[in-house]
Amino acid sequence: MLPATHARLLETLTAHARRLGGDIVQVSKQEFAGLGLSPAPFTSWDVGVNHDEKIVYFSEFGMGGHGMPEDAAEFAIHLIHEMAHVFACRVSPYDMNGNTAGQDELEFFGWEIAMTLAVGVDLQDFWRLNADYGLGSGRLIRELDTTARQQLVTEQLQVAARLGMLQDGLPVSIRDAA
Ligand SMILES: [Zn+2]
Repeated sequence: MLPATHARLLETLTAHARRLGGDIVQVSKQEFAGLGLSPAPFTSWDVGVNHDEKIVYFSEFGMGGHGMPEDAAEFAIHLIHEMAHVFACRVSPYDMNGNTAGQDELEFFGWEIAMTLAVGVDLQDFWRLNADYGLGSGRLIRELDTTARQQLVTEQLQVAARLGMLQDGLPVSIRDAA
């Protein structure tokens, strides 16, 4: 069973996924294996997306037998990243071979920030958990000071708004937009 804090965040994130015409579905480790999804790297549990169905699937226990991180923010931040692949991306993250296609993930970074704010996860946690996120030209999040991070938030929220990913500051789905 999910710890209470995880369950509360899951409930909020699921409500957002449904508002955007999709869902987040928890399955068993065996069911997850049967879905044939490529699990996201860097997680001790399994999470993956069916882009066509607009569903983020996850299982509490991963293939390696590890479980959910104790840190609920970590759980939420990974779910938000996969949600961005579904709702803020017109193409599936996987190519025909199940590999991640060459996507510019920075395009939906603002969407992830907006969702993090919308569900009340602290941006400090967002920075901590995305410390190794690459910003292009070899720059990593962990190298930015507070001012640079604030600038990045402002910049990326503007990019997201320009790409039609935000409405009144709230992240929306671009899947059905022309
Ligand atoms: Zn990704």
